[in-house]
Amino acid sequence: MNALRSEHISRRLWLAMLVIMLSVALISLPLIVSSYRSYQKSSEALQEIQSLKMVAELSNKISRERAPANNAMSSPQDELPEQLGALRKYRAEADIQMQQAAEVLRRTGFAGAARELEQNFKPALALGRQAVDRYIALPYGQRRQEQLDQAIASMFMAWDQSHAVLQHVVSQSKGKDTALSNYYTLILLLADLRDQAGRTASNIMAAVSFNEPIPEENLARFMQTQRQTQYLWQLVNVVQPEHDKTPEFQALHRRVKSGFLDQGLPLIAGLVDESLKGQPYSMTGPQLTQAIVGKFSTVVDLQSYILQYSVDAARQELQQAKKKLIYAILIVLVSLLTVVLTMIYARKWVFEPLIVARRQLFALAQLEDRPALESSRHRQGSSIFDAISRLQKKLQQREALEFQLKHIAHSDSLTGIANRFALDEYIKLLEKQPSQFKQTCLMIIDIDNFKQVNDRCGHIAGDWVIQAVAENLKSCVRASDLLVRYGGDEFLVLIENISQETALKVAEKIRKGVLASEILQCEELAEVNVSISAGVAVGAASWMALLARADEALFRAKAKGKNTVSD
Ligand code: GH3
Ligand code: MG
Repeated sequence: MNALRSEHISRRLWLAMLVIMLSVALISLPLIVSSYRSYQKSSEALQEIQSLKMVAELSNKISRERAPANNAMSSPQDELPEQLGALRKYRAEADIQMQQAAEVLRRTGFAGAARELEQNFKPALALGRQAVDRYIALPYGQRRQEQLDQAIASMFMAWDQSHAVLQHVVSQSKGKDTALSNYYTLILLLADLRDQAGRTASNIMAAVSFNEPIPEENLARFMQTQRQTQYLWQLVNVVQPEHDKTPEFQALHRRVKSGFLDQGLPLIAGLVDESLKGQPYSMTGPQLTQAIVGKFSTVVDLQSYILQYSVDAARQELQQAKKKLIYAILIVLVSLLTVVLTMIYARKWVFEPLIVARRQLFALAQLEDRPALESSRHRQGSSIFDAISRLQKKLQQREALEFQLKHIAHSDSLTGIANRFALDEYIKLLEKQPSQFKQTCLMIIDIDNFKQVNDRCGHIAGDWVIQAVAENLKSCVRASDLLVRYGGDEFLVLIENISQETALKVAEKIRKGVLASEILQCEELAEVNVSISAGVAVGAASWMALLARADEALFRAKAKGKNTVSD
């Protein structure tokens, strides 16, 4: 039954262990889930920013296509084949880039943006290129400023479509609400800044190339792009987070100001001024393209830097999230391991010994306790405390029995006073401190002519006399004194810390007491009173010496004619 109960306890322990492990797992679950989610988000954000970078680069490529297109459209006859070759080469590269971008967008879940690229951007680019090609195909004499302007404007429209794709990707990105959100905005802003900066020169290119006044509409567009460029330049600085304003960013940002805003734009503004004043232009179309390219490159550099920085930041964010996820998993594993080890340790070193102790306790409690065992079988739920109280009861019973046994062994069965065995124990105790014997008094008391009592009145009367003398002795000494039936009709009285004089007085009191008590009720000895003789010795070097002295004193008392006390 106990084995069954132990198995039950063991099963409960396993259950408790399982519950604790499940609790730890449940507590740690949110930590792992949230770490995994942020890892997933960072991974998505990196992919999105890489896709954005690619579309932004494609958008730049299209924006930059205006340069070889403008060169080809405004080149003199003899340079045309070379410029056309450069334009075709550039377009082929742009087409490959566009194809790659479409594939990546589809692969990274931006199907909508990929569709927009195919359905809107590609046809718009094709239209822009057709307009450029149509203009180049015109004989030089038939070329007009409006036609050139229209070809340039159709390339602007192609870029607008590429920017729409970029916006589509940003709007569908899930990482916008992460720490990387600023970069999504920055990439958009910089793509815009780059194109607006490029348009400032393109707006007046046709007029300068034909050496004609700039049309009102172009003037308005120039003013607008100029303002927008300034505005976007400032906005980039505002949106870029303070902690991300690296010295490199600040240097590039300043270079846009000093190179493009302070030198490039005034160059174009000078040509606009010349047009307004009706003066001849100080440079030709190709010269304008050439001059503005160097200034414009500062904007391109800033954009390239931000694109790369965004990708790096996203990569770093992903690394951080990965590290956090690994730490979270490690913490959970360590916690679970600690729980398991603690439980195993507790099981082995705490519970198992307790179960064994409990089993032993039950076994002990039921030992020689058959009726109790039977009843405990009916009480399956009897607790360890029942076993302890049963054991306690048994111990008490044993103690009582031991006490009784000890008392029986130490007392004389006829008189109830101490026997020789008790005396031996007492002497052993005294011998531990032999100096004790110096103040100890030993009296040997012997009934006079006791044999006569036995012989004439019988042994029963003799026993009665021995009992009566013992009762008498008891009444004459204190409870702290030791009274011993030494054997036959002989008694010893041991009194500690007593003088010789007092000891003799006590002995005399005993003698008189016995004599006066008229113990014997026997016709054969009706004339005789029971008397005792006592030998008293106080102080000796050892027990044996004390005993010998008392014995000698008794001998003297008997020799004096009995019924006497002697020392
Ligand atoms: P004395 O005056 O010299 O002491 O002589 P006595 O007759 O008393 O002699 P003794 O002390 O030597 O005798 C003791 C007797 O006591 C001997 C023995 O038969 C008897 N006796 C010893 N134990 C008991 C007992 O328990 N009951 C009875 N009835 N007699 C006992
Ligand atoms: Mg005697």
